[in-house]
Amino acid sequence: MRSRSGILLFLFFPFLAKAQEPVLVLKHITVVDVKKGGLIKNVSVSIRGNRIEHMGNNIEIPYSATIIEARNKYLIPGLWDMHVHLSYYGKDALAMLAANGITGVRDMGGNLTQIDEWRDEIAAGKLAGPRIKRAGPFIDGPKKMSPLRASFTRIPASENAARQLVDSLKTAGVDFIKVHSRLSRAIFFAVSDEARRQHIPVVVHLPKAVSPEDAVRAGVRSIEHTESLLGSVIYEEQDTVRTRQTISALKKLYGTYGKKLAASIAAHKIFYDPTLISLYRVHGTGYEKMLAPRLLPLITQLHQAKVKLLTGSDFAGKDAGIRPGYDLHDELVLFTQAGLTPLEALQAATVNAAECLYMTDSLGTVEEGKIADLVLLNADPLKNIHNSRDIFAAVLNGHYWPAEALKRRLLKADQ
Ligand SMILES: [Zn+2]
Repeated sequence: MRSRSGILLFLFFPFLAKAQEPVLVLKHITVVDVKKGGLIKNVSVSIRGNRIEHMGNNIEIPYSATIIEARNKYLIPGLWDMHVHLSYYGKDALAMLAANGITGVRDMGGNLTQIDEWRDEIAAGKLAGPRIKRAGPFIDGPKKMSPLRASFTRIPASENAARQLVDSLKTAGVDFIKVHSRLSRAIFFAVSDEARRQHIPVVVHLPKAVSPEDAVRAGVRSIEHTESLLGSVIYEEQDTVRTRQTISALKKLYGTYGKKLAASIAAHKIFYDPTLISLYRVHGTGYEKMLAPRLLPLITQLHQAKVKLLTGSDFAGKDAGIRPGYDLHDELVLFTQAGLTPLEALQAATVNAAECLYMTDSLGTVEEGKIADLVLLNADPLKNIHNSRDIFAAVLNGHYWPAEALKRRLLKADQ
């Protein structure tokens, strides 16, 4: 514990407090420039507290610094999973994410109180876990749902109630508003209008009653899932009907309609988060399995239209088949199968995520002054995207975690 006079000293001379912060130096590494795609070879990076302080060949290293010799390692900005549901999977997801170099997540619907407790534990260094941005509860329409889902779903009964709900969520401090599948069109527009007035972003799982064009018009921040663009077809209860209608919906999507839509999403600077891996992983009906590969070229189409893509896994419950952390790397692989270069796939998981969250001043790249959410890889991810999972260590908010230490946390989480 610090003495009272010590605290007073730091109050009057804040630079002294800064000087006291631990310094971590990663020596002789190769920094991956995710903006331009180059490699900056054989540099050292010093991190003071949770910020990158210096980067270069000949930086000053304080005596007290912890030095990590990391020759032949590649330093990338930490990866973001932009579509997760922590409250379904539970606390174990946090260690799995960290062990996979996921240093940030966007929670797209969950128990706000619980998520914020985990967030505090992570911030206090008690838990290895990612930075969390969260929606809190879903805003949805009436539908059949599990008691767990119902516990973090709000169903406004009128446009007025919807506006009040947005207001109360903003007051509760959520980072954005998440709307879901059964919202009526009128209530969707009430939510998006109120959110615009209150300067809070809206992210959408396209409701059945809301077209992609509606979402573009409403100025949402991101559209979620690839199958959303098939319109209300995917809400058919019977697989046989759905499958039949899907064929014509796909034709429309890959024709003039789809191309115009992609151009319009790009022009309105709306981010697209395909979460395609979740369709590949879904157990149960054959419909999703049939659909997944048929939707892969949609990522190509959006990318060619210059839509900014995001990487999301959409992991939820433990029985849903999507693995926190691991499957985000598979989403990166799917992006490259859709024709993105490894660099472009990495950009989706780093700079695009930071931009979507209005955090480019502090996250998304390895640069002096930025928050140290970083991953050290054993091999070059620009050569082969599969190298993104070959992790040597992670730096979470300035704290250094060797891969073995992260794995030990995983074992603990398994128990
Ligand atoms: Zn979701």
